[in-house]
Amino acid sequence: MKRELTCRECAIKAYQENPNGEYIKKVYGNAIGYAFCDICNLKLELNSPACAISVALTPDDYFHWEDEFIEIPTWQVKDIPVEPSKF
Ligand SMILES: [Zn+2]
Repeated sequence: MKRELTCRECAIKAYQENPNGEYIKKVYGNAIGYAFCDICNLKLELNSPACAISVALTPDDYFHWEDEFIEIPTWQVKDIPVEPSKF
């Protein structure tokens, strides 16, 4: 699986065409550290809009990695199991 951290503008344009039919997952959030966009090299400041893009051959190759790099809004994490008893 390929992992890319990008700015939001690049993420919107990225992989709109997917001729090989790869599994593409885009998770939008805010950068939790200083980084650079993997596509345009824009510096991603702390808390700036960013996107974590995963490119895998099949959905089975995907694993969750995004929250090492971005803070993910709760509306995007509904497919991630959460233990209700922890809250
Ligand atoms: Zn960019």
